[in-house]
Amino acid sequence: MTERATNGYDVIIVGAGPAGLCAAMYVGRGMLKGLTIERGAPGGELLNTDLIEDYIGFESIKGWELAQGMTEHARKFGAEIVTDTVEKIRKASDGWFDVATARGHTYRAPAVILTAGGTPVKLGVPGEKEHAGKGVSYCAVCDGAFFKGEIVAVVGGGDAAVEEADYLTRYAAKVYIIHRRDRFRASKILQQRAFANPKIEVIWNKRVLEITGTAKGSEGLVLEDTVTGEHSTLMVGGVFIFIGFQPNSGLVEGHAKHDANGYFVTDDRMMTTIPGLFAAGDVRSQLTRQITTAVGDATTAAIAVEKYLTALRQTD
Ligand code: NAP
Repeated sequence: MTERATNGYDVIIVGAGPAGLCAAMYVGRGMLKGLTIERGAPGGELLNTDLIEDYIGFESIKGWELAQGMTEHARKFGAEIVTDTVEKIRKASDGWFDVATARGHTYRAPAVILTAGGTPVKLGVPGEKEHAGKGVSYCAVCDGAFFKGEIVAVVGGGDAAVEEADYLTRYAAKVYIIHRRDRFRASKILQQRAFANPKIEVIWNKRVLEITGTAKGSEGLVLEDTVTGEHSTLMVGGVFIFIGFQPNSGLVEGHAKHDANGYFVTDDRMMTTIPGLFAAGDVRSQLTRQITTAVGDATTAAIAVEKYLTALRQTD
């Protein structure tokens, strides 16, 4: 391999959350020419998080502040970040990747690091779509302040639900956590915090059947008891849904091995089963998804890309 693609990039990084920005920094430090494509502002999920207390070295830092710091750091090492939405990643017959975007560009490179994260899982109940953005939210930091003094509900029992419920009590008068079982899967420390918060009340063993309301927004929930089958209603001003993330792995054309939930399976270099396609952060199959694990994945991926390209060039 002696020539670079039309766009002259060694690697294309898809997504500019913590994983993407960290990969961009390492790619720059490795003297590779990288292009990072991000549909929104650099920072990804950090921008949906108020305070971060588990990023080692920072006892407490605002999500936007960490996002800004990571972006500046990546740019210091030459990161080129463009705003566009990646629609398809395809390995062409010449072994290079075509990365097609919504703005009509096709960027080419011999390696791709996919750090595109995921999108919130929807409940899929009547009223959810109709009231989205008008009482139904998937982001407490973005929408919490709209519910000052109101009663709101959080649906879910994982880290996101329990943590965000706690966050919402800054604004809301009361926060119900509605969970379909009788125990949370959230980490113990987050559970302890929520149980100690007098504004939080947990409603166990209930699933949401419907989100009701008027054209102005959601007003209430129809619930079903998962043990007795009994129906009930709960009047709330807003409902925040945190029932997991769907990885953005569908961007890749062709088959790359993934787990039952659609997260990419990688080797210890973060390479997927498509040679040259690396995955880092929330899109990758792993035990937990933290900022620290995302940047760890990205570090490995970026360094592995360097070695992969060197090996590729030696065989050409
Ligand atoms: P998660 O851990 O997969 O939890 C999803 C929750 O939603 C579970 O309690 C699940 O119930 C419930 N659920 C799923 N489908 C549902 C449905 N249709 N109706 C009602 N409830 C439903 O997802 P997450 O909380 O978004 O977290 C994702 C990952 O990010 C995790 O690895 C988590 O550790 C990490 N995370 C970490 C932090 C932190 O450490 N500060 C914060 C946020 C997220 P069941 O329990 O009954 O299955």
